[in-house]
Amino acid sequence: MKAAKNVYDYIDSAPKEIQAKLKELRKIIKEVVPDAKESISYGMAFYAYKGRLVYFGLQKKHIGLYIPPPIIENHKYDLRDYKTTKSAIHLSLSQKLPVALIKKLIKARVKHNEANKLKTSDKKIHTCSRGHKYQSSGPCPICWPGNTKKKRSLQLLDLLPSLP
Ligand SMILES: [Zn+2]
Repeated sequence: MKAAKNVYDYIDSAPKEIQAKLKELRKIIKEVVPDAKESISYGMAFYAYKGRLVYFGLQKKHIGLYIPPPIIENHKYDLRDYKTTKSAIHLSLSQKLPVALIKKLIKARVKHNEANKLKTSDKKIHTCSRGHKYQSSGPCPICWPGNTKKKRSLQLLDLLPSLP
């Protein structure tokens, strides 16, 4: 297939008999994650939701459904009848799409991405020794207004019990 500008073009440029399958796959993804952002990435249909969600692309003999690790690894048993790699499932061109399974995997990826987002936002919130909460890295901007270089002395102060 030649380079497509969007997923609509991408599906449109596929062989006629496969288009219905690709459209169904797109519908499944949109049903599970209506807010996912759709684009073309690495020459494939790509969906983002709080990070990378899922890709799909037509290969010579199958449709590749790509879900970044560890989702496929975590669903090995569900996927035992399919050819898989660490990040891809080979969907047969001649068989019906395993709709329930695809939905399950995408939902797992959504959960994974949501948990990741929480973790990174947690990391960004610091509490200084006087109890101020702040987001930037380095010394507390309330205790040290306009000063982000006195890391060393702050660390010393942090070791002292806080005074009333
Ligand atoms: Zn402070």
